[in-house]
Amino acid sequence: MLECPSCHSKFKSSMLRAEWGSSKGRVLCPACNKSLHFSPPYPLIILWGSFPVFLYFLLTRGIREGWFSSIKMLLAWVVGSVLVSVYISQIKPPVLKPSPPDDDAPIELFKREDK
Ligand SMILES: [Zn+2]
Repeated sequence: MLECPSCHSKFKSSMLRAEWGSSKGRVLCPACNKSLHFSPPYPLIILWGSFPVFLYFLLTRGIREGWFSSIKMLLAWVVGSVLVSVYISQIKPPVLKPSPPDDDAPIELFKREDK
């Protein structure tokens, strides 16, 4: 179960609505319609955290084995990262935080906001 940081209503993650037209995977609270985001953003962290590994394989094997295997590696990287983030979310669920109103804010990947 997730809890809205704004109105404190509890709901399932499937009840969240994606905020289309907005950046960085924001969601809307089904109760108060407030713009929220998950913290920490696991998919982003894992995707970019594993990027050097992907790049290494791309440079060492992708070049030798051609574009088809490069595309397979790209898919494996993206799909693998999503699966890992789903898996981690089961162990340590991300919490919802209110989104800042500024839509053009830089991606909060390297700026940890641990308090
Ligand atoms: Zn709410």
